[in-house]
Amino acid sequence: MKTIGLLGGMSWESTVTYYQVLNRMTQARLGGLHSAKCLIWSFDFAEIEAAQAAGDWGRATDLMSAAARNLERGGADCLVVCTNTMHKMAHDVQQAIDIPLLHIADATAPAVKTAGCKAPLLLATAYTMEQDFYKGHLRDKHGINVRVPGSDDREEVHRIIYEELCKGEIWADSKQTLLEIVEKETQAGSDGVIFGCTEIGLLVSAEDFAVPSFDTTTLHAEAALDYALNQT
Ligand code: GLU
Repeated sequence: MKTIGLLGGMSWESTVTYYQVLNRMTQARLGGLHSAKCLIWSFDFAEIEAAQAAGDWGRATDLMSAAARNLERGGADCLVVCTNTMHKMAHDVQQAIDIPLLHIADATAPAVKTAGCKAPLLLATAYTMEQDFYKGHLRDKHGINVRVPGSDDREEVHRIIYEELCKGEIWADSKQTLLEIVEKETQAGSDGVIFGCTEIGLLVSAEDFAVPSFDTTTLHAEAALDYALNQT
């Protein structure tokens, strides 16, 4: 089994999910007392968020590259960046290391295609919904054209992520808000929902929606395990 390097703490609430999913899946696949070999680098998310809010992506890249190198030096065989948003720096972080960075959008795309979704709705941070680094990756590399909510709804999803989910606050009102956004966008043509933020799965799950949903956290962890067990 290879060792998975997790670049986490963005936020730690979802890094917990990665750790749990990786270990549960390893046990399910290998049985017995098997669990995942992994190293976790966990940032102080306040530092990361400050760089994001200031638009200082260079500082964020430096912090992530240094941490990725530490994971590699520590024995990681691959890198898993446990956030969709920070895949904005995926290319530069990959340049800083010799082990492969397993891209979260590459882990998500096959499930979207298998489900036959042509216009999935992307629920994510404003950075991910509004900039092209993630939507463009899905479009150019996988031929998937995502839809995003309208501007007021994007702002509210972003607020829920940073002010609630990243602090471990799970509120029924916010769940209702997401359900209403998805319902509205489904009527407007979305035929699936991508949980394009690694904390979204803390608030909603597949059973909440009439259309297929794709939880990037779970799909990413599964892809990492495929790699670690040579099952890709
Ligand atoms: N974990 C989130 C994501 O998947 C948001 C926090 C962050 O900005 O990294 O995008």
